Amino acid sequence: MATVESVCVYCGSSNQVNPKYLRVAADLGRFLATRGCRIVYGGGSTGLMGALADAALEAGGEVIGVIPDHFYVPELAHTGLTRLEVVPDMHTRKARMAQLADAFVALPGGFGTWEELFEVLTWAQIGLHQKPVGLLNAFGFYDRLLDFIRHAREEGFLYKDHEDLLLARPDPQSLWEALIAFRPKPLHKWLTQPKSSP
Ligand code: AMP
Repeated sequence: MATVESVCVYCGSSNQVNPKYLRVAADLGRFLATRGCRIVYGGGSTGLMGALADAALEAGGEVIGVIPDHFYVPELAHTGLTRLEVVPDMHTRKARMAQLADAFVALPGGFGTWEELFEVLTWAQIGLHQKPVGLLNAFGFYDRLLDFIRHAREEGFLYKDHEDLLLARPDPQSLWEALIAFRPKPLHKWLTQPKSSP
């Protein structure tokens, strides 16, 4: 079982989304807070980011934001967090968020969310960390992405054990169970495989 005391959450910053997605972010925030699990996220006040942080704080949870200084403006940064770390750039931010977390979760989001998710998945694939990576697939938002990942595996671009690194679940409770049940296993290394083996 993985010990998960803090979760890094990646999620959409847009305010233009269907409110059902804001509710999912708030549900996850409350869920983690009531389990005493710290949230690490990008430090924003907008979209799912704000909904996540507000709900967790309201439930008495600890929320740490890590924001690059070019986003550190009143319209974007959350001012009521347990702690807000201001860092010089996006790369420092992502490394710091990863360092502070025992597990990663992506909620529905856009380019920023996907980029962060795929970076931590790639780091897992090449053995740079052994922390669980979850996808909260609320309302089937990521169904087509999961289909595409399966397609990439069938076409030989991914190993099955790399595909399996992404723990996709439809709700906070089942995702939490998958995160804490995660056990890292030895993974394929591209360079040591014969050409036909994926
Ligand atoms: P996106 O999914 O494109 O909306 O990007 C959201 C992700 O990018 C979040 O997980 C953040 O880490 C980062 N991000 C994007 N916009 C902001 C913002 N206004 N404030 C803080 N972080 C942001």
